[in-house]
Amino acid sequence: MTAHPLFDVSGRTALVTGSSRGIGHALARGLAEAGCTVVLNGRDGARLAEAAAALPADRVHTAVFDVTDGPAVARGVADIEERVGPLDILVNNAGMQLRAPLLEFTDEDWHRILQTNLTSAFLVGREAARRMTARGHGKIVNICSLQSEVVRPGIAPYAAAKGAVKMLTKGMCADWGPYGVQVNGLGPGYVETELTRPLVEDEEFTAWVRRRTPAGRWGRTADLVGGVLFLASPAADFVNGQVLYVDGGMTSVL
Ligand code: NDP
Repeated sequence: MTAHPLFDVSGRTALVTGSSRGIGHALARGLAEAGCTVVLNGRDGARLAEAAAALPADRVHTAVFDVTDGPAVARGVADIEERVGPLDILVNNAGMQLRAPLLEFTDEDWHRILQTNLTSAFLVGREAARRMTARGHGKIVNICSLQSEVVRPGIAPYAAAKGAVKMLTKGMCADWGPYGVQVNGLGPGYVETELTRPLVEDEEFTAWVRRRTPAGRWGRTADLVGGVLFLASPAADFVNGQVLYVDGGMTSVL
């Protein structure tokens, strides 16, 4: 039995920011396996080339640029459209974490967190949407977080940024929905990646995650693929401004 045509994304072109590893790489792999041409992005060209080598060669391209640098983003998106083709799908995934008590958080770290997790989604989203709105269609998925809703000590700036990404998602929906562009969020729970390595290696924290998550385990990057395929597909043509939490149930229970 084949998948329902509503879920068919084959032949689409997708840019996934921050896709040299972790969640972004898994999402790009999932989109490529579903028949998309994918563009991987990150700041390190060598790491990106290695990440691209792990995906089907005929469906993968790379674009090296820093998502916090406005002019570089504008050049990067223009170059992708010229080299690869019109973007149908954008996944704003690039992000980072810095854990420290709020009283000790420096100005510099605050700005880095906000620029990487929030400003980047505005910069890349605006560049892609300028083209998508002109063409009358497009799908944007902003990677939010469990921390778009709840927080724990030591990560207030990250939670502030991810909470803002949720509201940016709704604002993009308000502005770009009338032009045929659907903008939604995907909110991962605790997922094993380089970003969460210190937490995964902390036995006490890992035991807490297992106890606290109805699914009883850490998330895997592959757990997020179904959500992005849905939000990027025609099945989500009337879904706009929503955040889909893929967290093993954590945000729903105390
Ligand atoms: P990783 O640290 O494993 O990967 C981050 C990716 O982003 C890398 O490819 C990195 O490449 C890229 N990146 C970072 N900064 C920039 C930049 N300025 N410009 C371009 N690329 C950049 O993170 P995860 O895979 O864990 O996280 C991915 C997203 O998912 C983030 O938005 C994160 O906040 C979110 N998330 C993660 C959760 C988790 O449990 N892991 C939970 C909830 C949300 P390079 O350094 O080479 O540029």
